[in-house]
Amino acid sequence: MILIGSMNLHRTVQRGDFICPQCRGLESYRLRARRPFLTVYLIPLAPLGNRELFVQCQGCKQRFDERILERPKRDVDRGLEAELFAEEALRAAALMVIAKGHFTEEDISTLQRAGEDLFGRPVSREPLGELCSSAFWNRIPAINYVQSVAHRWSQPQRQAAMKACFLAASTGGDLPPDQIQRLESIRQDLNLTDEEFEQAIESAVELE
Ligand SMILES: [Zn+2]
Repeated sequence: MILIGSMNLHRTVQRGDFICPQCRGLESYRLRARRPFLTVYLIPLAPLGNRELFVQCQGCKQRFDERILERPKRDVDRGLEAELFAEEALRAAALMVIAKGHFTEEDISTLQRAGEDLFGRPVSREPLGELCSSAFWNRIPAINYVQSVAHRWSQPQRQAAMKACFLAASTGGDLPPDQIQRLESIRQDLNLTDEEFEQAIESAVELE
């Protein structure tokens, strides 16, 4: 029997300093590349996908999306191009599901619904599966991901992202305490007022 599997290979591609949202100050980071490889007898033979980059803080060891390195001193009002935003918000929602530790059929259809709402068109399972797999293997927690990318989102985009994250966190009508905490952290990182937060939750409940 030939033993076939897969593994992730990591490589540091850049080092520097950044403002870490967890350490709340200037810290060193390593920009690392992850690439999945097909293994035979545990020997990596062929890449299975493209390399993906993530930023790792040398202080707290937390992982962030590489876009955190573009984070400006002030927030941008213009917002992000719609398609790019939809993809980032759906990834944040997928990370809320990943935080639970398991995926159900109901989670997948919830993410499809959230995706349809964000993109304005149906999202099929295949690209959704790729997004979830990449989000899972990069091991960037939902909160860190939002802290990395949300500086490019406009206020309405922030509300739309909050809505998607709430939907993903509350699949099946169940909202455990750790998910409530995560949503509250995200609300703070997104600078949403109580009213904006409530609006986002209300529109999410309408979509359920
Ligand atoms: Zn840190």
